[in-house]
Amino acid sequence: MDTILVVNAGSSSVKFQIFSIEGDGTLQRRIKGQVDGIGSRPRLRASDRTGVPVADRAYPIEAVADVPAAMLVAGTWLRDELNINPIAVGHRVVHGGPDHANPVLIDHGVVERLARYVSLAPLHQPHNLAPVRTILANFPDLPQVACFDTAFHRDHDALADHYAIPRQLHAEGIRRYGFHGLSYEYIARRLRQVAPKVASGRVVVAHLGSGASMCAIRDGRSVESTMGFTALDGLAMGTRAGQLDPGVVLYLLAEKGMAVSTVQDFLYRDCGMKGLSGISNDMRELQESSDPRAAFAIDYFVYRIGLSTGMLAAALQGLDGFVFTAGIGENSAVIRGRVADRLSWLGTTLDAGLNASNAGKISASDSRIPVYVIPTDEELMIAQHTLALVVKPKTPAQARERMS
Ligand code: AMP
Repeated sequence: MDTILVVNAGSSSVKFQIFSIEGDGTLQRRIKGQVDGIGSRPRLRASDRTGVPVADRAYPIEAVADVPAAMLVAGTWLRDELNINPIAVGHRVVHGGPDHANPVLIDHGVVERLARYVSLAPLHQPHNLAPVRTILANFPDLPQVACFDTAFHRDHDALADHYAIPRQLHAEGIRRYGFHGLSYEYIARRLRQVAPKVASGRVVVAHLGSGASMCAIRDGRSVESTMGFTALDGLAMGTRAGQLDPGVVLYLLAEKGMAVSTVQDFLYRDCGMKGLSGISNDMRELQESSDPRAAFAIDYFVYRIGLSTGMLAAALQGLDGFVFTAGIGENSAVIRGRVADRLSWLGTTLDAGLNASNAGKISASDSRIPVYVIPTDEELMIAQHTLALVVKPKTPAQARERMS
C-alpha cells in the first residue's frame, strides 16, 4: 500500500497523519497521531481512521528533547510497528515568502530559501523546517513537499498586498501575506461541491480556532485576508491580540522598557482572549464561565468578526455566502449565533435548530445570505498537493478527481 505522510510540526508537538493512495488515485486517511510534550513530558499518541487508539506511550525527556527527535520517534513507530514506509512526505510550512504561490518539492536549496523567512514567522517556521531537515539528512531520497499557509493568498491584487510604507520595504518582503491558506483552499474546494453557485460568487470564510482569521474569496480565489505580514494581525485570537495600533508596540518598547523578545512573547502568547479575560485562551472555558470578563472577551471576539466581515465584504463588493470553520467555527453554535446576529444587517438569519446541530447549512430558508459550517481539513489538502507533485495522475479523470 502506497502512503503519504503529512507532518505539521510546532514548538512542542509534531502532528502527523498517514494517507493511503487508493487504486482510483484518491486518498484515504489511515492514521492520525502526534508526539507532544517535547522537552517536557514526551508522549506518542495515535488513532486509526475510526478514531480507535493504536498507540499511547510516554518517553523519557532525554529521548525526545526536540522536534527532530520527535519526528524520528514517529517515523520509527510507523515503520517498525505498522510497516508503513511512505512514498513521500508533505509538510505544513507557515511561510512561503513572496515567491511561493504553490507547494514545492523540497531540496537543500529550497530549505535554505525557506529558512530566510524564519524572521517573518519566528514561532512557527523554524519548527516547520526542523523535520524537513531531519528527513533530508536521514532519508535523502524520500520526496518531500512544502505546502504553505501563505500560498493561497499570493495572487492578491497589489492594493491588498501592500502596506503604505516606502516601496523598498515591500521589495524586501514587508507585505500583507495572509495565513491559514491551506484551510481556505480546502474550504473553497469543498464549497464547490456543497454549493457550486455560491462558490463561484463572493464568500467570506471565518477560520475561528486558537488562531483565527477571515478570508474574502471570489470564485474560489483569495482576494483579501484579515492577517497580514505575520499571523498577529486581524481578529482577536486565543492568545494574540489581533489588530493593534503599532504605537502600542512602540509604547511597550519605549515606555515600559520591554525587550524585543519579551514583546514578541507577549504579543503571541499573552494577549487575545487570554489577556482580555484574564481567565483562559480557550473558547469553551470562556463560554462556560459566569465571570463578566469572559463575557466581555466573547463580546469582543464577535465584535471584531463583525467589523472584519464589513471590511471583507467591501473588498468583494458584496456578499453571496458566509462559512464558519475550525474549532470554534465548527463547534460553537453560540458564537455562530452571535456572529450571525451581528451580520443581520447584511442579510444573515440562522435556523436555530440547524445551528444547534452543527448542520452543513445553518441559515434559515429566508436568509438572504446562505451560511455554512464546513469542517476544515488542512492535512488532506497537504496530502493532495504532495500526491500531485510526486505521482503523476494516470488518467484525465484522476487528475480532475484530485483537484476536486
Ligand atoms: P482549533 O485551533 O481549530 O483546534 O480550535 C481550538 C478552539 O476551538 C479552542 O478555543 C476551543 O475552546 C474551541 N472549541 C472547540 N470545541 C468547542 C465548542 N464545542 N464550543 C466552543 N468552543 C470550542
